Amino acid sequence: MSGKHWPPGTQCVTKHDHTKPKPRELAFRKGDMVTIIEAVEGKGWYRVRHNETGQEGLLAASALRERGAIRADPKLSLMPWFHGKISGLEAVQELQPPEDGLFLVRESVRHPGDYVLCVSFGKEVIHYRVVHEENTLSIDSQQYFSNLIDMIEHYMKEQGAICTKLVKPKPKSGMKSAEEELAKAGWLLNLKHLTLGDRIGQGEFGDVLQGEYMGQRVAVKNIKCDVTAQAFLAETAAMTKVRHKNLVCLLGVILHNGLYIVMEFMSKGNLVNFLRTRGRALVPTQQLLLFALDVAQGMDYLESKKLVHRDLAARNILISEENVAKVSDFGLARVNPKGADATLLPVKWTAPEALKHNKFSSKSDVWSYGILLWEIFSFGRAPYPKLALKEVTELLEQGYRMDPPEGCPPTIYALMKSCWELEPGKRPSFKKLTEKLQKELKHLRDI
Ligand code: ADP
Ligand code: MG
Repeated sequence: MSGKHWPPGTQCVTKHDHTKPKPRELAFRKGDMVTIIEAVEGKGWYRVRHNETGQEGLLAASALRERGAIRADPKLSLMPWFHGKISGLEAVQELQPPEDGLFLVRESVRHPGDYVLCVSFGKEVIHYRVVHEENTLSIDSQQYFSNLIDMIEHYMKEQGAICTKLVKPKPKSGMKSAEEELAKAGWLLNLKHLTLGDRIGQGEFGDVLQGEYMGQRVAVKNIKCDVTAQAFLAETAAMTKVRHKNLVCLLGVILHNGLYIVMEFMSKGNLVNFLRTRGRALVPTQQLLLFALDVAQGMDYLESKKLVHRDLAARNILISEENVAKVSDFGLARVNPKGADATLLPVKWTAPEALKHNKFSSKSDVWSYGILLWEIFSFGRAPYPKLALKEVTELLEQGYRMDPPEGCPPTIYALMKSCWELEPGKRPSFKKLTEKLQKELKHLRDI
């Protein structure tokens, strides 16, 4: 089909088998992942690299599709084989007809909080009690795991002390395997191609490591807790829907050690640290404006996709080697197992209507963007210095707003204040903000 235009780096999935390639063509099987290297002259061919073998060759565009977005579906589960609290008898019924290696995990009815691994073997179902010991899980008190996902992953590879290698998960009715859905859509990466390096950051829910995936430098967020990993599926799903130069790009995920989220590597770290460590002397106003513009453009795109960020702040903006600012952490549903808990919100960044009535929207993102502008022009200072969280909320309602940072251009301060209109409808859109910043940059270049 004509009309396709995939830039280098695009991840595609093959639509059928092609096992007898002509010279210079690539051999592949249906469902293989390839990376676009470049479009070739003539119509409809691409030079691509096979993600598994690393081989390069030609491939017809008609044999390719771009990978699809993952829908944030509550039925999508990292642990589809987890059936919750069901009795041993019910487990046996679930595992009919018998099939060696068919398995599920349930929560013990008699010992709440304890898990039981149930495996079909011969004509029987064998129940293995999973023992909790100091935040680890074990069946035989020899092999220990930090969560159920790891435990199952292990016994699917090795029989160990149990009757048979685990072969086939029995999904809880209505649940879909996240692993299968991710693989089908083309977002599941292969652990064997990943090399992990130093820790470069610490997130709220796990470490961020530097790494390499098929020759590309990457950042890897590792979420070890199975419950949190499940919650992160929503964030990951949001990342599969978007592609923009000012949004941190998701390469894919690996289900190992809980969950690995593999992203493009942003070598200059987060914006707060970038500004704090360099300061006024090293970062000119034009660069500040460029960062502000980058973020506004990324957010304009998110808004166009009807995605609300909820946690827009300089700490969640990352800087590339070429000084491009990109928005990260755009999980719609902030990971928060207990539901909307107001005490976990970043109060100093959150719009009043979002704090009080949980009304998050692109306009509440615009409020946060105003705070982010303030952070940028104060070179990474924490907003509302000297004010306690409680005072902030009260003062804002009385009309108080932060003073401009030292040396901040008046036009930029006016932009901030417009983002901090109490009434969401009065705040500018990200499109408007983009236009204003472009004008400001042009003005700066003209003088
Ligand atoms: P969380 O929001 O869960 O607390 P973040 O995603 O903000 O964690 O990551 C924590 C830190 O790790 C960031 O502030 C940044 O310094 C670093 N980091 C995160 N993602 C990347 C990336 N893609 N490239 C480089 N550094 C990153
Ligand atoms: Mg963050």
